[in-house]
This record gives sequence, structure tokens and C-alpha cells, in this order.
Amino acid sequence: MIIDQALLTTFYLCHRKAYFSKDEIHQTGNFNFEADYNQIHLVAFADEMIDDEKNKALILNRRSKSVRERHIIEAAFLSFVMNLRGERSKIVVNFLNGQKSIEPRDELISMMINSIKESFEEPSPPAPSFSYACKGCPFYTDCIEISSKSQDLSLINGIGEKRKKTLLKAGFTDLKSISNADPAIIASYTGIEFKEAKTIVKQATAISKFQLIPIEKPNLPKSDHEYFFDVEKSDEELYLFGIFHEGIYHSFILDIDDWEDQWKAFLEFISKYPHAPIYHYDRFDRDVIQKFADLSDMESKELVKRFVDLYAVVRRSLAMPVRFYSLKDVAGILGFKWKNPNFKGYDAMIALGEWKKTKDQSIMKEILEYNEDDCVALKILKEKLSDL
Ligand code: SF4
Repeated sequence: MIIDQALLTTFYLCHRKAYFSKDEIHQTGNFNFEADYNQIHLVAFADEMIDDEKNKALILNRRSKSVRERHIIEAAFLSFVMNLRGERSKIVVNFLNGQKSIEPRDELISMMINSIKESFEEPSPPAPSFSYACKGCPFYTDCIEISSKSQDLSLINGIGEKRKKTLLKAGFTDLKSISNADPAIIASYTGIEFKEAKTIVKQATAISKFQLIPIEKPNLPKSDHEYFFDVEKSDEELYLFGIFHEGIYHSFILDIDDWEDQWKAFLEFISKYPHAPIYHYDRFDRDVIQKFADLSDMESKELVKRFVDLYAVVRRSLAMPVRFYSLKDVAGILGFKWKNPNFKGYDAMIALGEWKKTKDQSIMKEILEYNEDDCVALKILKEKLSDL
């Protein structure tokens, strides 16, 4: 059996996904280190290596704002393999806002390796356990189908592994038992607030009946005009602003090294109706606007006030029959279909970077088509919320 660093991280995020990927060849780094442990071949890797007389360090570069538990596990695995090889080395994780040295955690890693071995020796894969790791996972549709058949509690947004175990112990074994439950009892078993427990009960009802269940009346601005806005971003700080207004899609491309003209054009465009709301989904789009407002030293209070986050509105006002409240899932339930359903936000990010290098118009066409669909999906969602 071979366990490499990527497989170990996948196992940490989802046992089932790791089970399916156990025979694949995974990503490696610039520096690879191998060792055997209990008849298992381990492969660890680092992105950089410092090896001079004073200093010996292995470095993992991770594009994350802070060090996450999964990075610590990954680094601890690298340290474990180095120890097996009898080569002591400092392990450092570089993240976007700094650097962290990782202490060896050999006991944890040996426990994880044993648990991976046990899991992989099972004849069938572990049951799905939904988390943020499901985003973009190729097994997602299958996992939803399997869990739906068994009416599994993990289908409910807000129920992770820990809460599921608690609720199972308390006798809530399927979606129906939660949708019929008194929220006060759910709150007392799980230790969550009554309001959250109430949402969980509605969420279970929405899934088991495949219906939209109102929570509270959405509070949307009243206006004769409106804009629907969505941003794509590449790793190289290249931004695509997409905006749908009066039935027409418009786009603006802002490169962090050359953004001022397009930023001005964007501001001019949205100033046609200076008080019209600009609908978007989740915080990222508004943060990007704030970033460019700061870069241009402009007073942004009035501009930022126009942005209405439909994600926040949906979460406050509606329980939907979805496991995750991504725009794809939410607008998908309302019947919206993306022209290319296999193209996701991550693909747009990679494609933008590719376009920056090649200026290939077919790449840009695909990104624009995807971004336009996101903007139109926002409009569909906003209309549904207004109808409630
Ligand atoms: S969809 Fe989620 S639960 Fe299913 S395998 Fe992927 S990560 Fe695991």
C-alpha cells in the first residue's frame, strides 16, 4: 500500500473521497521523500528546501490566508517521513500572510496511517460525510443520491459529523425525525441556539419534502432599476467584473498592474442609476469592490451600501432543499441551468490565469459565458425572493 501526502490530506477531509482516490497517482512536490512504515510505503513532498550549514528546512507553500489544520497535518506527515529516514529537518508552512513552523506530531500521524489502512481494507467505501471538501468533488452527485436514499442526517445544512452523532444517539435517525422535532429539544441535545435549531428543522423539512420553506420575509430594497454583479479572480490578481443590467451583460477586466481605466468605466456604468441596488452573492464581490475603492483612494461608503448580498438574504429567509447554499445549488433548485454545467468557479480562476498568459479569445469567451450565467442566476434568485 502507498500513502502519499496528498492522499493523507484527502483522508483528513473526507474518508470516502480518499477511499476512491487510493489507487490514483497524486500530486508530488519539487522535493520528494519516501520511507516504509508497517509495510506501507509513504511518500512526502516539499515545495522548497533550504539546506546550508546553519539551516535545514523543508517548506510548503500554501495559498491560504492562514494556516489551516489540513496544512498542519500535511506538514506533520512530512516531518514523520523525515524522522523515519533519520533526517531531522525544520518544517515550515508559508501562507499568504506569514509563516509557521510545525512541530512533529508523530503519534497523530501514525494513528491516521493505521486508520487509513483499516478504511482502505474495507470492501466498501465509507458513507458520505458532507463538508466544505465536497466543493467541486467529482463524487458529489453520487454521495447526494446515496444519502437521499437513506434520508441521512448529514444532508441537512448545519449538521456535521459531531452533531449527527449526537442526534443519532438522541434517537433522531432520519430527516423525517428532525423535521417533526421540536426545535427546543434539538437545541438542548446539540447545545445550539434555538433559532439555529429552528432553521435546522426547516432545513430537514425542505429536503424531505423537496420544497422551499420560508423562514422570514426577505427584506429587499425597492427600486425600478437594479444591477446583478459577479467577480471572477485569477491567482495573479486579474479580476473580471461581470454585470447584468436591463437584459444586457457587460464585463470589465481589471489587472492589478493596470486597473484604473476599467475601474473608472465600471463606476461610470453603475452611476447611470446611482441609487439602484447591486445584487451579488456572498462577501467576496463586495470585498473586491472595497479593495479597488481603497486602491483608488475614493470614499466608498455610499458605493458599498448599494451592494446587497443575496446569500445573506437567502440564509435569513428561506430553507431550500440543498445541502450547500452555493449560487449553483440555490439557482439550480429554482430551475436555472448554466450553459456549461461542468465549468465551475475554480475553472474560471485557472482559465483567467491562462488567458492572461495567452490572450486566447476562446478562453475568454468561456469565462464570459460562465460569468454571465452567474449574473443571470442572481437575477432569477432575486426575483424568487421578491415573490415570497
Ligand atoms: S462529495 Fe463530499 S462526501 Fe462525497 S466523496 Fe466528495 S468530499 Fe466526500
